Amino acid sequence: MTFSLAIVGRPNVGKSTLFNRLVGKRLALVDDQPGVTRDLREGAARLGDLRFTVIDTAGLEEATDESLQGRMRKLTERAVDMADICLFMIDARTGVTPMDEVLAEILRKRAKHVILAANKGEGSAADSGVIEAWGLGLGEPIRLSAEHGEGLNDLYALLMPLADEYEERAEEDAPETDVDVCEDDPDAPRPITKAKPLQIAVVGRPNAGKSTLINQIMGEERLLTGPEAGITRDAISVQVDWDDVPMRIFDTAGMRKKAKIQEKLEKLSVSDGLRAVKFAEVVVVLLDAAIPFEQQDLRIADLAEREGRAVVIAVNKWDVEEDKQAKLRELREEFTRLLPQLRGAPLVTVSAKTGKGLDRLHTAIMKAQAVWNRRVTTAQLNRWLAGMLEQHPPPAPQGKRIKLRYMTQAKTRPPGFVVMCSHPDKMPDSYSRYLVNGLRESFDMPGTPIRLYMRGQSDKNPYKGRRKVNAGALTKHLGKGRPSGR
Ligand code: GDP
Ligand code: GDP
Repeated sequence: MTFSLAIVGRPNVGKSTLFNRLVGKRLALVDDQPGVTRDLREGAARLGDLRFTVIDTAGLEEATDESLQGRMRKLTERAVDMADICLFMIDARTGVTPMDEVLAEILRKRAKHVILAANKGEGSAADSGVIEAWGLGLGEPIRLSAEHGEGLNDLYALLMPLADEYEERAEEDAPETDVDVCEDDPDAPRPITKAKPLQIAVVGRPNAGKSTLINQIMGEERLLTGPEAGITRDAISVQVDWDDVPMRIFDTAGMRKKAKIQEKLEKLSVSDGLRAVKFAEVVVVLLDAAIPFEQQDLRIADLAEREGRAVVIAVNKWDVEEDKQAKLRELREEFTRLLPQLRGAPLVTVSAKTGKGLDRLHTAIMKAQAVWNRRVTTAQLNRWLAGMLEQHPPPAPQGKRIKLRYMTQAKTRPPGFVVMCSHPDKMPDSYSRYLVNGLRESFDMPGTPIRLYMRGQSDKNPYKGRRKVNAGALTKHLGKGRPSGR
């Protein structure tokens, strides 16, 4: 899922009907009754072989406090800012209305890509409406019938080249992960350069202070380097030298014409979070000290770990925290309890507003990426393994002792290890955890996701090993060079 499509248009043109068709489940109810409030909704869409996120702006109540048009505008602006592509829908049976004109104007000004759809296009009653749609200045309309599933081929034909573009873009922007380790690699570890800056993502719930933090980082640099030098900005990332380290900072949710968005979404959009994580080598999960470790924070931190990214927890708005010591104790306790899979990951306190603690954050990021890039030689590993076995011999299920023969590091970014052993399928998780925790301590690898693969004698490909245990109880498969798209 490399792009998102927002369906916009005035009420009753058929947006939800199309949303339902694309999502495939009757997840979103089509409701003809006025008075039902529905806000922006997200769904996983499929159209032919395309997979994307669809955002529906359905369901405005009848006008009450504020004018319908005003709210319509706001909602549309929000959707446009969130989405990569907009599908603007009109009702071909009704033809173009003044409200359609208003929305078309927003789209012309603001949207990156607009697809114009004349819906309810089945039958000749729609002919004149389809022709009128040309007049909106948004190019050729596609004639759709969301209800009958007509015109979807045309939609597919328009989306496909855009999807390819976003796919390519995502490939280019993705950092190298799951890198094969071979000993005496002259390139290891990869240096951070201007051409290949360190990629970090700042994620967190709305209002956590992501934009403030990024502006603070940028601002400090601007003082040093002048308004233009060394700073490039695109839609989803900023590039900056932060304390002489070239970095590219991703904030897919926040950078989109942020200032213009009036209301903020309550929730971190799942697709935005996922995308930001995929772009990053180090994920900075920014918490609001007043409401730390909320469900969405935990979800995104877990997601980052599962995707094999290094994680730094930054607790923001520390300037307004009163009892700093007690709070810090509480935060550390919560962190250990709620995110055991990230054991040892750095937790730093910052104030994005005042800039205090940013040096600590920088240090934590650099440390996290060093750990994530860690390489341990086979000789070191096997000496270490012998000690571990002696200290705490592996179990003997049904009287058969599991023999651990040999160990090597197969991957880095994040570190992945293969242990050759007898009966890999009988290895209890507790013993694997013992090894993972031992690796963390002995080779200074706190926090980073560590993959450990038990491999029997007959298995050829270690990464196809039947037994795989991560620091957390995870199911994702490591394999190709790049993580697969979702
Ligand atoms: P929304 O308010 O834009 O989300 O519109 P809905 O999806 O709720 O649809 C409004 C009404 O239009 C419903 O009664 C739908 O059944 C109907 N509708 C949606 N698509 C079509 C279509 O392609 N043709 C016809 N004739 N009716 C449709
Ligand atoms: P975002 O939605 O995560 O990008 O959050 P913003 O950067 O827009 O910040 C949300 C609000 O929190 C704004 O009113 C900021 O001024 C405020 N804020 C951000 N960082 C801090 C901080 O370190 N201390 C305090 N007191 N307020 C902050």
